[in-house]
Amino acid sequence: MSAQSLSVIIHGGAGSPKEIQENPREVPFLKTALDAAWSALLSGQTGDKAVVAALRVLEACEYFDSGYGSYPNQQGLARCDVALMRGNGDFISLLNTRRLIHPSQAALDQFTPGKSLMAVWTDQMMARIDSASTEEKERYGWVATEAEMIAPFAVEAVRKHTANSPVSNHDTVGCVVRDAQGRIFAGTSTGGIMLKPDGRVGDSPILGAGVFADDEVCGLSATGDGEIILKSLLSSYVAADIRSFLRADPQRFEKDPQLLKTILSTELADMRRKYPKGEAGMIVIPKRGNPAYAFNSKVMSVAMRVGNSAQIELQDIRLAQ
Ligand code: ASP
Repeated sequence: MSAQSLSVIIHGGAGSPKEIQENPREVPFLKTALDAAWSALLSGQTGDKAVVAALRVLEACEYFDSGYGSYPNQQGLARCDVALMRGNGDFISLLNTRRLIHPSQAALDQFTPGKSLMAVWTDQMMARIDSASTEEKERYGWVATEAEMIAPFAVEAVRKHTANSPVSNHDTVGCVVRDAQGRIFAGTSTGGIMLKPDGRVGDSPILGAGVFADDEVCGLSATGDGEIILKSLLSSYVAADIRSFLRADPQRFEKDPQLLKTILSTELADMRRKYPKGEAGMIVIPKRGNPAYAFNSKVMSVAMRVGNSAQIELQDIRLAQ
């Protein structure tokens, strides 16, 4: 594959906040996450390390629903889901992780070339980290008690949430990168929907729903109503559409920079037509061509950069409305 620009795109969730902020508090963290992934790629690290470098920044920030910012479930506990996928087909998904501020790091450290795994977080996994070195515990953001996973921001969000006036924020985080060799990597990390039932798993760690990467097609990360993203096949249809266009013309997305956004908006509209309550957003990098994002919620926080060490060709960091 020929050398090409580096691409990074990040989201910090799609939602409908009660108040629109004048200086969105998420934006500086998105920039730090973007810089972290970018520096990792520039320093020659693999794309999955770049993805996790970005996810770690967002998992540590209470404004995002992942790691430390996870919304509590009905039992008041943080249960996180994470998945990483490489465009060669390798993947790892960890479901219902506990007491880890950085589930993405736990996933990366279990990512073995040529192997794929989807696993529920077990007591044995807990025990292994519990008895690990201090350094390893710190790398995973291991906390001693369940209570340390629930940030003040999440407590406040739950307080504001009522049956008649639900908080509909989906602040899951995700990152997709394409390296200079055209290899694609994607990751999604979430605390799931607020007050979810015990054991619930949404779209985020499911391939072809909350996360996907295929070097021949695209990489993506989704956010929003997990059950609707799952049953509508939103992300799978997006990947299928991209694949059809690439089959007809491998350069189609370079020639027509608006096309990717049109595909995303069309599939989101179709999801909404079928499931009128469905809110979702997605970031995508195609095999060739620039990243794009779209959402049907009121806002979605995003950051993207395309270029190389000499030049930034494209950059966009915002709470998009
Ligand atoms: N999609 C996530 C889930 O359903 C929630 C989110 O995007 O914030 O678990």
